[in-house]
Amino acid sequence: MRKRSLYGAVSLLSVAVLTVTTSNVASGQTAAAKAAPLPTVVVLATGGTIAGAAASDVQAGYTSGQLGVDQLLAAVPQAKKLAVLRGEQISNIGSQDMNDTVWLKLAQRINELTAQNDVAGVVITHGTDTIEETAYFLNLVVKSRKPVVMTAAMRPSTAMSADGPLNFYNAVAVAANKDAAGRGVLVVANDWIHGAASLTKTSTTAVQTFLSPLSGLIGTVAYGTVEFYRGPVGKHTADSEFSLSGVTQLPRVDIIMAYENMDGALIDAAVAAGAKGVVIAGVGNGNLTEAAVKTLAKHAQNGIACVRSSRVTTGVIGRNVELDDDKLGFVAALEHNPQKSRVLLRLALLRQRTPADLQRLFTEY
Ligand code: ASP
Repeated sequence: MRKRSLYGAVSLLSVAVLTVTTSNVASGQTAAAKAAPLPTVVVLATGGTIAGAAASDVQAGYTSGQLGVDQLLAAVPQAKKLAVLRGEQISNIGSQDMNDTVWLKLAQRINELTAQNDVAGVVITHGTDTIEETAYFLNLVVKSRKPVVMTAAMRPSTAMSADGPLNFYNAVAVAANKDAAGRGVLVVANDWIHGAASLTKTSTTAVQTFLSPLSGLIGTVAYGTVEFYRGPVGKHTADSEFSLSGVTQLPRVDIIMAYENMDGALIDAAVAAGAKGVVIAGVGNGNLTEAAVKTLAKHAQNGIACVRSSRVTTGVIGRNVELDDDKLGFVAALEHNPQKSRVLLRLALLRQRTPADLQRLFTEY
């Protein structure tokens, strides 16, 4: 771990090293750092509060996606000491409006860029509302081990104590760090590095909103100094069996929350609307009323993929605990929250799958 920390520090300081006199260059490694050019990191901007603006620095109301990628880059000139930066605008929307068109475009562009020899890593700026879904989607469809790092902000660029600039700086530091490779898509926010499968948004307004409650952090990054603790949970990126090649549309999957006195009406409505899969944000360990179970089982028998997740923030949704999943034809989401379950299910349903196939995917990814 210490060794990795030192690695991060070396890459961060590589520009400063250029100014060191020859007599101060003590080792061959330092000489190599002196000669090494900065890595190229491409910034793909999608919008969000990090690109948001308000009329004043203390008001709650603001609009997401107001700044273009060039303005984002210009706002953090310090990041140019970490990497050669190039920017591209993919979209400029609040992430509550994130959609399949942007997802497919983003995934394709990341796959193109990471295949280029001169690109060391990619940073994606995004809104916080759905970053966990986009991160997990990319984690399953990007075909590269190069660092792909997402970042966001809770406060717009015009706010007092805006959190975007340091988050962006730290994201570039992680993307430029060779040790970030092979860890899947990462999300950097408020000094913490999360894995795409584990993070979730836990506060509507606090800067410290992202947690990886079940499996913990991948690492930390403080003013550009990167420290990794471990790899991510589940298969990802280059090891993923999912591919978007030839895909222009993703199947519809709906999430339905369970609650007291629930009947099957919303489950029926989802299927009638064309859902190929239904994810239940169940109570507790993925439970739902008897009436809802009956309706769900009816659709499972008809080939609709039925996944039991939970509306509870943390914990594993176990198979065959209070419900007989084997008999009912259900899939237990295990550690996937409803929104991550939906992402995985949409990709899984690009082809025909039995409940057993789906359970394998929920176990491996
Ligand atoms: N609604 C915003 C978004 O997700 C919130 C944010 O970025 O923090 O785009």
